[in-house]
Amino acid sequence: MAQEAAQKKSKKNGHPILRGLAVFAFLGLLGLGGFHLVHHPDTPLPPQWNPIKPLAISDPVTLLTQWKLDRTANDGPACLAALDGVATLDNLNDLETSDQCHIRDRVALAAIGVAGLDNIETRCAIALRLAMWEHHSLQPAAREFLGTELTGINHFGSYSCRAMRTLSGASSRMSTHATADAIDIAGFRFADGQSIQLIRDWGGQGGKAAFLRAARDGACDWFKLTLSPDYNQLHADHFHLQSTGWGSCR
Ligand SMILES: [Zn+2]
Repeated sequence: MAQEAAQKKSKKNGHPILRGLAVFAFLGLLGLGGFHLVHHPDTPLPPQWNPIKPLAISDPVTLLTQWKLDRTANDGPACLAALDGVATLDNLNDLETSDQCHIRDRVALAAIGVAGLDNIETRCAIALRLAMWEHHSLQPAAREFLGTELTGINHFGSYSCRAMRTLSGASSRMSTHATADAIDIAGFRFADGQSIQLIRDWGGQGGKAAFLRAARDGACDWFKLTLSPDYNQLHADHFHLQSTGWGSCR
């Protein structure tokens, strides 16, 4: 199942290494004659293709988008700037509970695009990746499979100072939730009153199940690690979306 998903993903977006090479080749071409092309105020280069222009959530997706997203996610002020006008959030001071447990680049998040969520404290990077997911994956999937607009995202939280959970019990390693580098998504609400719960609808048929598959595959584009009910029974009722990791999509 995981292999199938990975194959599907690589068909859709290209293998991560090939994608990296394409970006590298593109930047190389820019380097050859491109200084004026990227720096000139009247450059014909659209911002989504211009590596020195900041990430804008609503820009069309190009080969540079992932690179811009990673760079922005790792830069607190740039992350907040990208979310200006896109997310409803308060910028908070870092929370430092211990060496292992903290929330850096901390925000209190209440909405992403037009999708509200129960107020949640998390890292700006999570808010940023949620914003890309909402705009480029969830809203298109809501229109395509349900003919409506997404208006809410239900979650089980982001920050939790705890060890990783495995099928054989608690691990000795800390969870990525201990640093708010992950969020657990439980379901979705829509403008026409429909709602989706992973626990109820993942195994179903029709539009809701199709929406959930598209939501999972879309999360794989915008998060560094995505675990769905396909992964194991600990994830039967939520997507675990992580802003760190090496591209797992299951
Ligand atoms: Zn989780």
